[in-house]
This record gives sequence, structure tokens and C-alpha cells, in this order.
Amino acid sequence: MAHTTIGVDVGGTGTKAGLVSDSGEVLLRVERPTDRTAGTKGVIEVVEELLERTTDGDSPVAVGVGAAGFIDATTGSVTFAPNLSYDDPHIADAVGARTNLPVIVDNDANAAVWGERAFGAARGLDHVVLLTLGTGIGSGFIIGGRLLRGSTGAAAEFGHMIVDPRGPECPCGLRGCIEQFASGGAIARAARRVAEGNPNSTLVAFAGSIDAITAKHVAQAAREYDEAALGVMRDAGHWLGIALSNIANLFDPQTIVLGGGVVKAGETFLGVARDTFVAMTTAQRRRPMRLDVTALGSDAGIIGAAALAFDEGPRDAGEAR
Ligand SMILES: [Zn+2]
Repeated sequence: MAHTTIGVDVGGTGTKAGLVSDSGEVLLRVERPTDRTAGTKGVIEVVEELLERTTDGDSPVAVGVGAAGFIDATTGSVTFAPNLSYDDPHIADAVGARTNLPVIVDNDANAAVWGERAFGAARGLDHVVLLTLGTGIGSGFIIGGRLLRGSTGAAAEFGHMIVDPRGPECPCGLRGCIEQFASGGAIARAARRVAEGNPNSTLVAFAGSIDAITAKHVAQAAREYDEAALGVMRDAGHWLGIALSNIANLFDPQTIVLGGGVVKAGETFLGVARDTFVAMTTAQRRRPMRLDVTALGSDAGIIGAAALAFDEGPRDAGEAR
């Protein structure tokens, strides 16, 4: 009988859960829109729905939750979540009380990097960095085989590394974070600015209006050789390359794994990032470093949370939280 765990991924728009085998296969899945005022209730709902659909032979041994925000993994609690509100910050206690299962809670990007190392692009590696390029930039770090969590769970927030102190404001409260230059949100904003001066560009035609432009439209227009879109993608890719070089200097990982919707933009974005990164690491005479694209895709969060539950859950069973 294969062991299973439940992995939950709480994102800004959807809360996804999967029953995951110990070989990383998603056996059952549930997805609901995230209630942005009741994140914890949403976790309990998807877990209970999965448990109802689980047959006896597949009963999970633990639950893992990857949640957006600053998470204290030692207590399984949310300490700060700028984009989402949790009705009960003590997620591990709340879910454990309803399911009688050990519950591990960690940041969503920490879960994703753990999943890529267990079953994805960074299998078997002990020094791995993952960047999730979506509306913002999430990041997870495995150093010497262990997750970097910091003293309060607020470590590994690479998206808020400042690259221009006079740059645009960031929702985190600072200015000029890398997230404001290389994320999907940043690409969309830059494209809207450029489109103001080019109202007849392919970019505006794809989106319907300037206000409706998203990173997806920019990628689509760039593939059609729209100059404005190509310029925006090249700029964002260049900034990403600089971010990767900073990561190489700080952590010297075996690979950096790139995930999130923006990687689908392809070479107009990733090619420039890779070229910038290789030029910078070569200038420092660093040995070539791997750059991978996620192997688990949009399942990285649930598979990673489930893998964390496998590795840390049963060990904590019965311990006082
Ligand atoms: Zn920031």
C-alpha cells in the first residue's frame, strides 16, 4: 500500500489541494476560489472534501500546506500576509483539530522548491533556489539540503531585494524591489506605459485596451515581433538576469529553478535573462550554473506541500505544538 499525504496550495486566486502518493503522483485533486477574507476556512474545506473522496487504502498520513505570506513553520502559523487574510492565523492547529492528522505549514514558495527537489527539476540536489515569477516574485531556498526559513519564517523573500532605491513603490512598503522590474505585474505595468505612446501597436490590439494589458498579452505580442512588447520583455529579462547573478553571489546553488506563469513567455524573456546571467557569472569566472524551468508547473505547490508533509509530518505527530 502506497503512503499518501495531502498537499494544499493557498494562492491569491485559488486554493488547490491534492492527494499525493509517495512517488509524487497527484491521485485526487480539488480546487476552489480563495476566499480572500477566510484563507484558513478555505484550507479546511478543500482538505475535508479530499478526505471524503479518499478510499480507505489511500488514507493520508499527514497534511502539508503551502500558504502565501510569512509563515512560522515551527508553529504552523501565519505571521504576515499582505495579499490575503486568514480568519485563523494558526493554520496547523485549526486543520489538525478537524482532521486528527499531523499538519505542516510553510510558505508557498518553500513548498514549491521542496517539491522540485523531491520530484521535479532539482531532483537529488542539496543547493537549490526557486523563483516563482507571477504577479509578484516568490522564492524558496534549499541550502545544504535544508529549507532556509530564518528566525521567524520571513527569510527567503528575494522578490523584495532592492535593485533601485528610487524605483517604483512595492506593496511590501519599500521601493525598487526586483519584483517591481521582473515579475508579471511589472511587465504588464511597463507595457501599459509603453502603449500610451503606441496606441496602434499589436500589444493594444491583443489586449483590447491599454488598461487590459497583462503579461500574457505582452508575451503574445512579443512572439509576433511587436517592437514595444519585445522591448518590455528584454528589459524584464535583463533585470531577471541581474537577480540571478545576485543569487549566484549569495548562495552558489547547483541550479536556479524558474516557475510561475511568466516563464511561459519563453525565449524573448528567458533568453535575455540567461544571456545576462551567463555574462555576469563568466565575468566573475564562476563555473557555469544550471538554470532550469519548473518540471512540476502549476502542481509544484501541492506536490511540494505534500512532500513536506511526508518528510516532516509524521515525525511531528503527537508532539505538542
Ligand atoms: Zn517589495
